[in-house]
This record gives sequence, C-alpha cells and structure tokens, in this order.
Amino acid sequence: MTVEANAKINLTLDILGQREDGYHEVAMVMQSVRLFDTLRMELVSNGIALHLNTAALPADESNLAWRAARRFLNVHGIRSGVRIEIEKRIPIAAGLAGGSADAAAVLRGLNELFATQMTATELIRLGAEIGSDVPFCLRGGTVLATGRGEILTPLSCGLHAWVVLARPPIEVSTAWAYSTFDRLHGLETSWTSAMVETIKKGDLKEIAARLGNALEAVTLKAHPVIGDYKNILKENGALASLMSGSGPTVYALARDKVMAERAAAALSAVHPEAVVFVVPTTGPKENG
Ligand code: ATP
Repeated sequence: MTVEANAKINLTLDILGQREDGYHEVAMVMQSVRLFDTLRMELVSNGIALHLNTAALPADESNLAWRAARRFLNVHGIRSGVRIEIEKRIPIAAGLAGGSADAAAVLRGLNELFATQMTATELIRLGAEIGSDVPFCLRGGTVLATGRGEILTPLSCGLHAWVVLARPPIEVSTAWAYSTFDRLHGLETSWTSAMVETIKKGDLKEIAARLGNALEAVTLKAHPVIGDYKNILKENGALASLMSGSGPTVYALARDKVMAERAAAALSAVHPEAVVFVVPTTGPKENG
C-alpha cells in the first residue's frame, strides 16, 4: 500500500481568539500542493515499525505517523501490526503541515489495508484527535477550515496555479508562533471570508492580492530574512508571496511554471541556503 502525503500552504490564516481548550479559533483557506512524502505500509504480525529516510525525525511514538497508526489500531481493536516506511520530502517544522500530512496518509492507508471502510467523515473525526491540520490533509484540495482547523468546507472551484516554496534554514515551532501572537496582542484579521468569495470568482490575480497570514508578522519579526525572500519572489515574476502557517516557509503564486521557475531561480541566486521547490497546486484526495 503506497500513499502520498501532500504538503499544504495557507492562502489565509486569521486568528479569531483563544479557546478554553487551549487551542486558537482560526479561519483559514488551505491549499494542497504537489510536494509530498511517500508512505509505504504493510501488515506485520504485531507492533508498529516506522522507518524514515531521514535522521532528522524520531521514528518512535512521538512521530505523528506512529501516533495515527496506534490510534487507528486501537479504535478498531486490531491486534496485528503494521510496518510504515516514510520517504520524507516535505521540510520539517516549516509551516507545510508535513507531520499532519503523514498522519492523514497513515489513516487513509490503514483504512484500505485493513478494509475497515471508515467513511471520509469518520476518518476526519479520528484525524482531528491527532492534530488540527490532519482533517485538512485527509481532504486536500482548496478548503475553508474553521474551528481549530478541523471544520472543513471544501471550495470546489479550487485554485489552479504554480507555487514556489522557499524554506529558509530556520525551524519555527507552531506553539511558539501562536503564544508570541497572543503576547504581542496581534491584530484580529479577516482575510478568509474575502478569499472564499474571490476563489469562487477564480481570478488568480485577485486571489494573489488577498493572501494574508496573521502569524506572518510574528515570525517575520524574529526572522527578517523572510521579508527578503518575499520581496525577491515578488520582484521576479510572482503574483504575490506570503509565509505559510507559522513559517518559516515562504511561498509565491505564479501564473505558469516558467514564471514560477524564474522567481525560484532568482531567489536561489541570492539565497543559496534556501530549500526551494516549484510545484503546482493539487485538487482533493479521491476518497474525500
Ligand atoms: P503546521 O503547518 O501544521 O504548523 P509544520 O509544517 O510547521 O506544521 P511539521 O513538519 O508538521 O510542522 O512538524 C511539526 C512538528 O511535528 C515537528 O517539530 C516534528 O518534530 C513533529 N513531527 C512528528 N512527526 C512528524 C512527521 N511525520 N513529519 C514531520 N514532523 C513530525
């Protein structure tokens, strides 16, 4: 069983307040992109054996893929085990939901492997117990996410564009970004509702003009190089540029692959330390 776990970008991220359960109330438009980890899963007699192509992440109970597998096996009372091999390509702790994407891929893969026939809604409910971005990663495509990120409204028109992803060599913890936002009394923003309407119209230029992320100011203040990445991408053919999630990855939207590659090359020339990808946006997962 082989499953692809796609990265996401935030077209918008509004923080609407703190909740009693410790999470933040958010409104976001999320978009999946064709940058993915590949997960191979097979049945074994017992236990969860996780193998990664990188030493940068633990292959133990702390890994979100492992946690998703444990939760799935427990919920179904399954006594046999699974071997999971992850070929990681999505940068880690980068604002691209790589961990959540792996967890979502494990749930989808095990649902097939064990023929448990959970519906998309049931998988999403289970995914929300593992992480706020896991429901989106199960669905994929272009989606309005509210609540703590787990309430999904798919935007069927979707977004069709090329994306430059540029990751500076900085790790940003999501918890740090949100707590700094709270401490600095970050402004309440409202990019999301306008973005939803704009996506329905399908004008890429207008979509690009409405990108917004409440966490960008927080992470950018601590890491000004993010502003530099944004400017270089915009000055070299991109329609607009924004930080994704809690960062530090900066992305830019472009009309076609040639424009995206031009912006990516310009960025790499000035910032050879950046990890850069040029990928198209992608639609929803088939079982969504
Ligand atoms: P988000 O955009 O949802 O905030 P992110 O892209 O910033 O997420 P991830 O790559 O999902 O961050 O990683 C967040 C943390 O989760 C990392 O610090 C990492 O150690 C941990 N983690 C656990 N399992 C995984 C996994 N399979 N892949 C990536 N990170 C994982």
